[in-house]
Amino acid sequence: MKFELVAKAFDEIEKTSKRVDMTTQLAALFEQTPAEDMKNVIYLLQGRLAPAYENTETGLGEKLVIQAIARATGYTKEDVEKKFKKTGDLGQVASEYLEKKTQQSLIRTTLSVKKVHENFLKLATLTGEGTQELKIKLLAELLNSSTPNEGKFVVRFALGALRLGVGDPTLMDALAHVHLNEFQKENTALVKEIDESTGKKSPEEKIRKIRMKLREQIEAKYNIYSDLGTLAQKLTEKGLKGLNNIDLEPGVPIRPTLAERLPLAKDIIEKLGKCIVESKYDGFRLQVHKKGKDVWIFSRNLENMSDMFPEIVDAAKKQLDCHTCIVEGEALAVNEETQEFFPFQITIQRKRKYDIDEKAKELPLKLFLFDVMSINDKNLMPLPFHERREKLKKLIMKGETIELTNGIITDSSREVDKFFNENVSGGLEGIVCKDLNAPYIAGARKFAWIKLKRSYKGELQDTVDLVIIGFYKGKGKRTEFGLGGLLAAVYDDKADLFKSITRIGTGFSEEMLADLHKLLSKHTLNHKPARVDSDVTPYAWVEPKFVIEVRADEITQSPMHTAGREQGESTGYALRFPRILKRRNDKEPEMATTVREIIKMYQNQKKVKVEEAR
Ligand code: ATP
Repeated sequence: MKFELVAKAFDEIEKTSKRVDMTTQLAALFEQTPAEDMKNVIYLLQGRLAPAYENTETGLGEKLVIQAIARATGYTKEDVEKKFKKTGDLGQVASEYLEKKTQQSLIRTTLSVKKVHENFLKLATLTGEGTQELKIKLLAELLNSSTPNEGKFVVRFALGALRLGVGDPTLMDALAHVHLNEFQKENTALVKEIDESTGKKSPEEKIRKIRMKLREQIEAKYNIYSDLGTLAQKLTEKGLKGLNNIDLEPGVPIRPTLAERLPLAKDIIEKLGKCIVESKYDGFRLQVHKKGKDVWIFSRNLENMSDMFPEIVDAAKKQLDCHTCIVEGEALAVNEETQEFFPFQITIQRKRKYDIDEKAKELPLKLFLFDVMSINDKNLMPLPFHERREKLKKLIMKGETIELTNGIITDSSREVDKFFNENVSGGLEGIVCKDLNAPYIAGARKFAWIKLKRSYKGELQDTVDLVIIGFYKGKGKRTEFGLGGLLAAVYDDKADLFKSITRIGTGFSEEMLADLHKLLSKHTLNHKPARVDSDVTPYAWVEPKFVIEVRADEITQSPMHTAGREQGESTGYALRFPRILKRRNDKEPEMATTVREIIKMYQNQKKVKVEEAR
């Protein structure tokens, strides 16, 4: 497949400001994509070369890219730098210089998707000194045979800043769109049902509903096999049948189940009845996969962290009594002398690429397992939790690193409160209560788990994770950083849109302001991004890509923001006194707090106030 087709689609997607158009453009691209290129097209759209869990780093430095542009276009490095200073987008610079080459008929477009992927893959494997020259050569080679439009995206891809704003749900929607006819033929009863329930409403609404059903099926597979490239390839090769044999596989991470919130122990007992109440450890969530001598460790957002935690790899080999298994837990550093848990700020020091062994000796981790998804290739996800926990207990052999989470079974809210207080005074974050009968619900936030965290009066009970959709220029002292505040959004998972909820100007350190400005400048757009819904206009729009953790005093109703605003109504929700805590690199934008959660938190907050007033 010619890369030109992909670059053309990228260009259209970049310009669109409507999510529906984005889906149609993606579907049109997929229709033209042969099965052998499908994987790579999906990865390129995701801004990657392989699924996230393979950690194939693509990001090249600006300096190197500048040299490659100069070499491919015949301009000097200084020319490229000068133009870059003006436009702020090296993709644009490459495109303009290539345009001049086109005018002189110096370009023959021969670039294929395969070639682009191949060269970037080679680039990704080159590390260390002396590889610089080869990297420039590989990139210049691509640019040499690029049209201006292709060059723009080759450069942006190289920098890790495609600015397309496409997310996995949009990709799945587009895939569903492509396979809609086949799905309708195979599911006549469902189509009839939707037909009847939609009544005289528009045919578009009917199609939307059917497509949603198919997307759910694709997503259910994606939740247990998080490689969208492979799924799309199978769909293209075999149609919907291609999804049939997708199942859990050691080495391919499962999308994690997520916890709901309720404000009080009595609400939790009312919801779950008799349940398991577990300590909530404040560390890293890890998914551990074992297959014979091979062990993989995946993070909350499914990155491969196997090299980072050697003691856990070791322990999985020794302490998990299985040939293959997939388990999940929270790892945190423990003070070996006192057996006390270190706070998160200490545990986080273990997230590093260098001096891993020394740090592992200084701050060894303990892994508290709370679930098991498969043992010896048997998928255990459908089993009720109490059965999975029994199996997990038996799976763990005695040792120094892996343990079962601490927990009690109760139906008394007084006991839940007591356990909560014991945990909080022992330095833990709170508790997680779990439905004894629930299956493992991959990739969704359902009431199978409910978290209760320690909180302080006058503050919202939990922090929220927001997506940056824009920024403001600084005033006064902040002008020197180029950024004075952010416009942030929550995620509407039904509509696959990011809806504005607050402006944030507090909590930033000077270093944070400078870092954010550098980062966000690479991802600005000159129009509202297609998946953003906001009436507030920032100084600069930003591709919805980065997640931050924010604490606020309260959720209020507000006419300003679109989060939670129903069609035809004028109020949405906003945050009062929001302050930024940190960036959440471990979350994708679609993992941010959802509109649904905000509405629930708003209702919970009312309940807490009533309780406090008593
Ligand atoms: P979320 O994971 O719900 O999106 P978050 O990453 O901000 O939000 P928290 O709000 O702290 O996390 O709560 C959920 C997290 O608590 C889980 O993802 C997991 O990492 C952690 N955790 C700690 N102990 C447990 C436990 N016993 N059972 C389940 N999760 C636990």
